[in-house]
Amino acid sequence: MGIWGRMLNSPCLTDRPEADRSPSRFSANRMERSQTFGWITMKLRFWGVRGSTPTPGREYLKYGGNTSCLELRANGNMILLDCGSGLRELGKAWVREFHGKPLKAFIFLTHYHWDHIQGIPFFEPLYNPENQFHFHCFSTGGATVRDALEGQMTNPYFPVDMNQMKAHRSFRRLGEESIEFHGVRVTAKHLFHPQGCLGYRVETNSEVIVYATDNEAGDRAGDRNLRELAQGADVLIYDAQYTPEEYDSHRKGWGHSTWRHGAQIAAECGVKELILFHHDPDHNDSFLDQVLPEAQAAFPSTRMSAEGMEIEVSAAGTERIRYTTVNK
Ligand SMILES: [Zn+2]
Ligand SMILES: [Zn+2]
Repeated sequence: MGIWGRMLNSPCLTDRPEADRSPSRFSANRMERSQTFGWITMKLRFWGVRGSTPTPGREYLKYGGNTSCLELRANGNMILLDCGSGLRELGKAWVREFHGKPLKAFIFLTHYHWDHIQGIPFFEPLYNPENQFHFHCFSTGGATVRDALEGQMTNPYFPVDMNQMKAHRSFRRLGEESIEFHGVRVTAKHLFHPQGCLGYRVETNSEVIVYATDNEAGDRAGDRNLRELAQGADVLIYDAQYTPEEYDSHRKGWGHSTWRHGAQIAAECGVKELILFHHDPDHNDSFLDQVLPEAQAAFPSTRMSAEGMEIEVSAAGTERIRYTTVNK
């Protein structure tokens, strides 16, 4: 059984009785797991790192062409951060891993732009009535979270509507707040982006991962919120869609940032690792390869996000943050 499977000895499998999910039980589980599996309590995998629209093609194979989708397993919880086109492959992987065993996952969407929700209709586990999915996002334009998500599957945009998805689904409207479940705290704050966007700080007792994409620097409230989210994070995943030159010449007001702003925030907030995310559709592999050293000159612990990249954050041990890449 791989690390993913071991971490799923957890409250996410829905056949586990509710009584097993109490904080005291969680502490016991955590201790048990830490002794057995070397303190791995957070593991993140990138299933989609592209911004705006998918980019199939040979020149995008290294970093990947799927839009925003991250899988996070934290203290045994299954968490999804955004549901771009990368969600489809993730769904197939879960079907293979769990062989139809009931699943429960918490889904946090940053916003409703296509590149963050377009994987939902193709997410196979949503069609299994045994599964549970808890969606979280802000409400927009008077629509509920449910309405906003179901809208992309209404006639004539998709052949079946969301009622065909038989999994149990709940929808929670988020403001700027923190919620906790099974030893994980998720804090949401608004970022600066057309039609709105939430950034998320996900933390356990000892690890912090921050997901802040689709944010344009320069807004007072947005910048303050970003700093609050990023403070002392182990890993900051940040919107670096444009180079500083592109931004300055013709991309102001488009709702995205640069590696330079990410590096500045990371340094100011004591972030350990900066991950550049939401790659522009016009930035192919060789372009991103050229950009990375420039970013590392400003903040050395910087990496480009790539499909298949995994990050483990451990509470103890000689290597607190460890990267691996799995075959797609
Ligand atoms: Zn986006
Ligand atoms: Zn957006």
